[in-house]
Amino acid sequence: MNIIRAGLLHRHCLFNMDFRQMHLLKNQAFINGEWVCAQNKLVFPVLNPADDKVIAEIPDMDQCDAKIAVDVALEAFKTWRDTTAKERSYILRNWFELCKKNSEELAHIITAEAGKPLAESRGEILYGNSFIEWFADTARHINGEVIPSPWPNKQIIVTRQPIGVVSVITPWNFPFAMITRKVAALMAAGCTCVIKPSEDTPLTALAAAKLAEEAGVPKGVINIVTCSRKNAAPVGKVLCEDTNVGCISFTGSTYVGQILYGMAAKGIKRVALELGGNAPFIVFPSADLEHAADQAMLAKFRNNGQACIGANRFLIHEDVYDDFIKIFKERIASKCVLGHGTKEGVTCGPLINLAQTKKVAGLVDDAISKGAKVELGGKVAKDIGDKFYESTLLLNVTPDMKIYQEEVFGPVAVCLKFKTEEEALQIANSTKSGLASYVFTKELGQAFRMSGKLEFGMVGINDGIISAAEPPFGGIKESGIGREGSKHGVEEYTDIKYTLFSALDK
Ligand code: ADP
Repeated sequence: MNIIRAGLLHRHCLFNMDFRQMHLLKNQAFINGEWVCAQNKLVFPVLNPADDKVIAEIPDMDQCDAKIAVDVALEAFKTWRDTTAKERSYILRNWFELCKKNSEELAHIITAEAGKPLAESRGEILYGNSFIEWFADTARHINGEVIPSPWPNKQIIVTRQPIGVVSVITPWNFPFAMITRKVAALMAAGCTCVIKPSEDTPLTALAAAKLAEEAGVPKGVINIVTCSRKNAAPVGKVLCEDTNVGCISFTGSTYVGQILYGMAAKGIKRVALELGGNAPFIVFPSADLEHAADQAMLAKFRNNGQACIGANRFLIHEDVYDDFIKIFKERIASKCVLGHGTKEGVTCGPLINLAQTKKVAGLVDDAISKGAKVELGGKVAKDIGDKFYESTLLLNVTPDMKIYQEEVFGPVAVCLKFKTEEEALQIANSTKSGLASYVFTKELGQAFRMSGKLEFGMVGINDGIISAAEPPFGGIKESGIGREGSKHGVEEYTDIKYTLFSALDK
C-alpha cells in the first residue's frame, strides 16, 4: 500500500493540489480545541475509493475518547449557551467566509476520500456553505411568544432554549454538507456537539473543524471523534446513551437509524433522523419530456446515484414510455463519463467501497435473472477499477425483483410503465420510505393532487433537484424524524419553555 501520512507531507501530491499547500488535511481528531490522537494511540487508514491509496492515517478512537468529548462539549455548553444570538451569528458568518475562501482545498479533500468528480465536490461546498450562511442569519430569529393569558394579572411567556450537547453522526455521501447542515443549526441554537463522521470520509469533517477553529469557534463547541467501522458501535453507544447528551442528530441508513433511535429511547432523548429514501420519479403524458430527461439525469446520476433523495424508481406513463426511454437513454449514453473524480470531463466517479459495489451489482443481477432488460450498462467497469459501476438503464422491472423495493444507492435507473394516476400513486406509495418524490406534468390539477397524495416529506414538481438551505429537508415513515435547513432546522435543537408570570397586581 502506498501510505501518505498527513503529518509527513513532503513530496506527495493530492492530484493537482500539492499537499504542502493543504493546511486543511489533518491526521488528528479534534477535542476541546486541540488536535489529538486516540487515547489508545491506534490509527486507521482513510482510502481513496478510486485507487485504494491511503490518503492519511487518523485516530481510531473508542468509548473513552467519546466520553471525554461529550464531557468537554457539556463544559463548553455552559458558556456557549449564554452568548448572544448576535455573537453566534458573527462566528458562524466567519466560518462561512473561511469555508468559501478555502473551497478549492475542501473540494479536493472530498474528491480524494469520497471519489466524486471535482465539479460535484465544488457544488457540495457551495451547498454545504449555504447552510452555514443561512443559520448565521437564522441565529438572530429564534423568537419566543407572548400568549394572551386566560387569567387576570398573569402573563404567559414562551422561549426556546438550547437542548445541550448534540451527538452528530454523519454518512460519507455528502461529507461536508451533512455536517454543516446540522452543526450550523445547532450552534445557532446555542448547543455544542460531538461529531462522529463516517469512517470513509473523516478528512472533510476535520478540514471543516480546522476552519471552524480559525473562525473563532470557542474550544469544545465542535468536537470530532474519528473511528473505524469497528469502533462505530461502541462510540455510537456513548454518543446515544451518555446522560450528558441531549439530542442525537443522525443521517445514514434506516437500519443504523433504528439502532440509534432505540438507544436514544432509554434516555428519552431528542432525535433528528435523516434516513434512507426510495424516491419515485413520475412522468405523465403532458410533461415536457426533454426537460424531464434532463432532470432525471440530475435526480439519478448526481453523486453516481449515492444520494438518499436520488430517484430510485422511474414510473413512466405508457403513452410516453417509449419516447421518454429513448431520450433518457441518449442522455445517459452521452453525458455519463465514468472515471477518476479529478479527471477533466468525468461526471461519475467510483462507488464508495466494495460492499456498496457488490450490493448494486447484486441487485442488478437479481433483476436480470428475473427478466429485467439491460438497455445500458449493467456491470462493473473492471477496466477502470473494481468500484466503478457502469451507468445503467434497466427496463421491464417487476415487483418480484429486489431492485423494485430496495434503495439502490448506485447509478442504476429502474424503469416501470403505468396506465393511470391512481396506479402511479399506488406504486409510488408502496414503500416504507417517504423522503423525496418527483412528478413531471403540465396539468395544474394533477400537480396539486400528486403533491397532496404522495406519502413523502418532499415533492418536486417538474424538478429533480429540490434541496437548499431555505426549504425544510426531511422524510416521513421510515425515512426519518425532523427537518433540516429552513427555520425548522434550528428548532430541532431547542426545547420550548413556558413561563407563567403571576401575581402581577401584587
Ligand atoms: P452508510 O451506508 O451510508 O455507511 P450507515 O448508516 O451504515 O450508512 O452509516 C452512517 C454513519 O453511521 C457512519 O458514520 C457510520 O460509522 C455510523 N454507524 C454505523 N453503525 C453505527 C452504530 N452502531 N452506532 C453509531 N454509529 C454507527
